[in-house]
Amino acid sequence: MTLLIKEILKLKPKNQLVTAKGWVKNFRANKFISINDGSTIQNIQCVMDFENFDDLLIKKINTGASISVNGKLVKSLGSGQDVEILVEDIKIYGESHPEKYPIQPKKHSFEFLRENAHLRIRTTTFSSIMRVRSKLSYAVHKFFQEENFQYVNTPIITSNDAEGAGEMFRVTTLDAKSPPLEKNNVDFKRDFFSKKTHLTVSGQLEAESYALGLGKVYTFGPTFRAENSNTTRHLSEFWMIEPEMAFFDLESNIDLAEKFVKYILNFIIKNCLNDLMFLEERLCNEEKNKPKNERNEMKLIEKLKFVVNNKFERISYSKAFEILKNCSKNKKKKFEFLVNDWGIDFQSEHERYLVEKYFKKPVVIFNYPSKSKAFYMRLNDDETTVAAMDVLFPGIGEIIGGSQREERLNILKNRMNEFDISQNDLWWYTELRRFGTVPHSGFGLGFERIVLFATGISNIRDVIPFPRTPNNALF
Ligand code: ATP
Ligand code: MN
Repeated sequence: MTLLIKEILKLKPKNQLVTAKGWVKNFRANKFISINDGSTIQNIQCVMDFENFDDLLIKKINTGASISVNGKLVKSLGSGQDVEILVEDIKIYGESHPEKYPIQPKKHSFEFLRENAHLRIRTTTFSSIMRVRSKLSYAVHKFFQEENFQYVNTPIITSNDAEGAGEMFRVTTLDAKSPPLEKNNVDFKRDFFSKKTHLTVSGQLEAESYALGLGKVYTFGPTFRAENSNTTRHLSEFWMIEPEMAFFDLESNIDLAEKFVKYILNFIIKNCLNDLMFLEERLCNEEKNKPKNERNEMKLIEKLKFVVNNKFERISYSKAFEILKNCSKNKKKKFEFLVNDWGIDFQSEHERYLVEKYFKKPVVIFNYPSKSKAFYMRLNDDETTVAAMDVLFPGIGEIIGGSQREERLNILKNRMNEFDISQNDLWWYTELRRFGTVPHSGFGLGFERIVLFATGISNIRDVIPFPRTPNNALF
């Protein structure tokens, strides 16, 4: 069996024969070949005596070429590595080109690499990001499975049209140029599913149905939003994690959210430290080029530990509102968006102030004004707030949004009317309250948002292999 470079690097060097396969990162002095196979951030150094090899073969050892090296594993004399391979045999799988290969051994801009997303995974930066992403997704499953959650797959194609979570992509097999009409409107009865369908914007409503039978469930799947917003935080296709728990109130929901994010971030601090240290270094240089007010004050690993090691502060919306209003009044902090009327939506500048300056720890805000939140959130006894919660992180503000769901049929119906949501379409959702309803809660976390936070990368297009954004579905 072929060993990965990660595995070879862990062997005790005893002059044993090993074979390393990978892509050439660097070839120096006709003697030292560094190869990497993506399994680890470290390259393996292969030392060759060029006099033993054919000139034609040596000419083919260029950055980007794929090769297999066979030789003895020995203790390295150089300082950069513990072991190295004394080359006895080299096989070239695929040649590269010293000038034309896009990924030259130097630092490329993120923009350039985005245009070369098919090859960017060969860079140290992207392989680090994607290893962290993979470990985070493992940690997500590991956490929920250890907490006795069941993994459910909610539909990607849906006819729910009333969630209001975001703009949707239509799914149709009708002829775009001349669709069948019924009284001048497109006749969706003749479409593939005999009704209008879309790509899902959230699996929450279906997850609720499953929680009210399986107990504790989570989804982790692709989500699509046709929002025409070209920001560094929005993708048209992203992955969402949505746990939903029967018999959980808002407080247990917050407890779970805190435990969950701490668990997955701790998991990568333990398992991806080399990648994180590299990213921290790489990004420190980028930070220096940013305007001062946009710079992150904490270094990457410090920021992760800030979340893992602090108990999250929990405050109500009204309390947060008072704090923000007072510090605007005392001129302690000047906000671009004024905090004057109870009921306003907090902006990320407000959220970051609470986390980074006021409490100096992650903050959970709960009991939001009912008008600003979704119809399914549970109405509190004051009848003006709902049992919603947002988890706020340094550098970005909101990372998780969740709530206790409205389990009382009559109140849910009133809320649906208020929000103009059709009870006909969501008949099945109201039926969950008609038969065996229970208090239940859940939250949503955009997976790429946590990968952004965990890697310190600033553009969401750089934490998913092939980003889909308005005007771009390349590769
Ligand atoms: P935002 O205000 O950032 O647009 P939202 O309020 O629309 O978010 P929700 O509907 O609560 O978000 O979706 C749940 C989670 O999905 C968000 O907390 C966020 O992490 C993530 N998310 C939402 N929209 C996107 C997107 N377009 N790309 C990537 N992640 C997203
Ligand atoms: Mn949005």
